Parts: sequence; structure tokens; C-alpha cells
Amino acid sequence: MDTQTVGGSRPEPSKNGLIVVAGAGGFIGGALVRYFCGRGFTRIRAVDKKPLPEWYQHAPGVESLCLDLSDHASCIRAAEGAWEVYNLAADMGGMGFIERFRVECLRSVLINTHLIEAAYRAGADRYFYSSSACAYNTELQKDPQVRALKESDAYPAMAERGYGWEKLFSEMVCQEYWAERGMKTFIARFHNVYGPHGTWDGGREKAPAAISRKVIEAQDSGSNKITIWGDGTATRSFMYIDDCVKGIDMIAHCERLIATPINLGTSELVSVNELVDIVEAIGGVKLHRDYDPTAPRGVGGRNSDNTMIQSILHWEPKTPLREGMAKTYAWIGQQYAGRKAGKRTIS
Ligand code: NAD
Repeated sequence: MDTQTVGGSRPEPSKNGLIVVAGAGGFIGGALVRYFCGRGFTRIRAVDKKPLPEWYQHAPGVESLCLDLSDHASCIRAAEGAWEVYNLAADMGGMGFIERFRVECLRSVLINTHLIEAAYRAGADRYFYSSSACAYNTELQKDPQVRALKESDAYPAMAERGYGWEKLFSEMVCQEYWAERGMKTFIARFHNVYGPHGTWDGGREKAPAAISRKVIEAQDSGSNKITIWGDGTATRSFMYIDDCVKGIDMIAHCERLIATPINLGTSELVSVNELVDIVEAIGGVKLHRDYDPTAPRGVGGRNSDNTMIQSILHWEPKTPLREGMAKTYAWIGQQYAGRKAGKRTIS
């Protein structure tokens, strides 16, 4: 078998097995490609439907393809010869996007449906799917002082409309490819991921990036005001991108986690107001806060119960929010300044 055993029980592909990353022009997919390059993998195929100049990151020596993976033939091309396939491709964004564009979110079902079949037909050894905490039952997430969500809380199902249901259905597809067809599938439920090289403007950005940008804008314009979506009491946990890609690698190479959805997030619960406090402290400013109760804000509270990941992987995402946000803020500051100076930036 074309595997090596690393650190005891964790098999990983030989450095020559072809790794395919779908959604590689985006935030997490781009970071995952860089991560695998950094670990010395020599055959990586990066795929995204965005034209190559719009990709957030490019890694040297990586085969980069512009393909729409909601199309069956494109998935066959993408998965050709694959040893491992990582599906990070989805039409998604922060609350402002997923509450408004449910059809687009639901249509991501086509990507996973075609890509997993193509991976299976290509004889791939394993397949990773990026699910979301939005797959959890929303009834359990009304209170900001929410009980952290454990993996069994997805059923009885009452996922977030559109985006969450697509995730839940695609999880089931992955589980059945293992049960019926014997392909090893791995499913992580991400809890809000943030960091440099993510969307920070344009409507798809999530709270950490949006708040960073607003604080930078308030300073730059001299308005010293920030508008916060909702009343600021909603709570979430936020995972730094480096933890996310490391977690994906660990989950995708843990045989105990085949076809078993697992939380990938931190259990450091903060309110939106506390997140703004952190960003203000990083920016060295205190702003007047206006609250917009009409803006999309999602569930009241959501946190990750990390009992399962701790017990199986003996690890959990640990980057402190203050530390990860300092790096994110600095990067968004550079992007903002670059755009002002007329340079092309990602958003
Ligand atoms: P992103 O929007 O930055 O990246 C997704 C990429 O998928 C984009 O580059 C997009 O062009 C590409 N894509 C969309 N439709 C495609 C298609 N038909 N064919 C090929 N490529 C297509 O998002 P991200 O934050 O990197 O998210 C990656 C995955 O993680 C997604 O499945 C997302 O649902 C999941 N997730 C992310 C978060 C988070 O906080 N960022 C939280 C939970 C789950």
C-alpha cells in the first residue's frame, strides 16, 4: 500500500501521491495547498472555478486548474489520478451571504456529489469533506450562553436553512460512499475560520475580517464609529487558519474517523462585542458602537464541544484569539492600504 506510518498510527500518502484540493483559489483551500507544499508533497493539483488571477494564493510547483466543479466532466478531470481529494469548494460566505443566497448555497451539493463520485471512480484512497457547524440543530443555538455542540447534536436535524442542509446532506453522501462502496471519507465540521488570505470585503466576509476592516476604516476616515450587526451579544468560537489546515490533515489520516463527522474549532466562546474589544485593542482605538438590529446575525450562540477531538486526536485548535486576530488585522491593514494606493487586492 502506498502509505507510510507517521507518529505511530497515522498513515499518510507517500510524498508522490497526487493530492487534489478543490476550492484552492479560496481561503482554506489555498492555505491547505500551502500547508501540503510546506510538508514536502510534490504532486498537488489545485482546482477552483475562479480565474487563476483571482485566486487568493498561488503556490509554486502546483498544477492549478480553473474548473467549475458543479459540472460532472470537470470533476472527472479534477480527480484524474488522485490519491487523496480534499473538497473545500463551496459557494459560501458569512451570515450576510448565506442568509441571502440560499439557492447558491444549496447548489454546492452538485460539487460534492460529482466530486466524490469522480474520486471514487479514480480509485482515490481517501476523500475529505469540509462541513460546517451550520449543520447543527438550530434549536440548540438560541441562547448566547449556549451549551457547546457535540457531534451527536446534528440529529434530530434542524440545520441552518440552505447552507446547513447542504452540509448535512453532503455529509450523508460521504458516509454512504464508505458504507456502501468502501471509499474512506472524512468529514470535519468547521467552526468559524479566520486568518490572513481570506475574504475581507465585498459581502462574503465573516465577522473577524469584517470587524477588522471596519476598525481600520473608522480610523482611516476619522469617523471613530463602527456599525455592528445585531446587538453584539451573539456568541461564537473562532479558529485560526493554521489550526484548521493542521486539523484537516490529522482528521483525514485518522482511520478511527472514517465517515465520522467531527468538530474542528476552538472552544473559546466570545461575544461579538468581545471580538470588537479585541480588535479595538489591536488597533489601539476605542470606537463609538452603533448596533443594527435589522442586519443578518444568525443563531444566538454556537460553540464547539471538543471532547471527541481531544479523545481521538489528543489535540485541539489552540491559537489564542488575540494572537490570531493580531496577524489577521495586520494583513487586512496591508490589503486596505494597498487598495487605497490603487494596487490589486483580494476581497
Ligand atoms: P472560500 O469562499 O474562500 O473558498 C471556497 C472556494 O470554492 C472559492 O474560491 C470558490 O471560487 C470555490 N468554488 C465555489 N464554487 C465552485 C465550483 N462550482 N467549482 C470550483 N470551485 C468552486 O471559502 P472558505 O472559507 O475557504 O471555505 C472552504 C470550505 O470550508 C467550504 O466548504 C465552506 O463551506 C467550509 N467552511 C468554512 C468556514 C469558514 O469559517 N471559513 C466555516 C465552516 C465551513
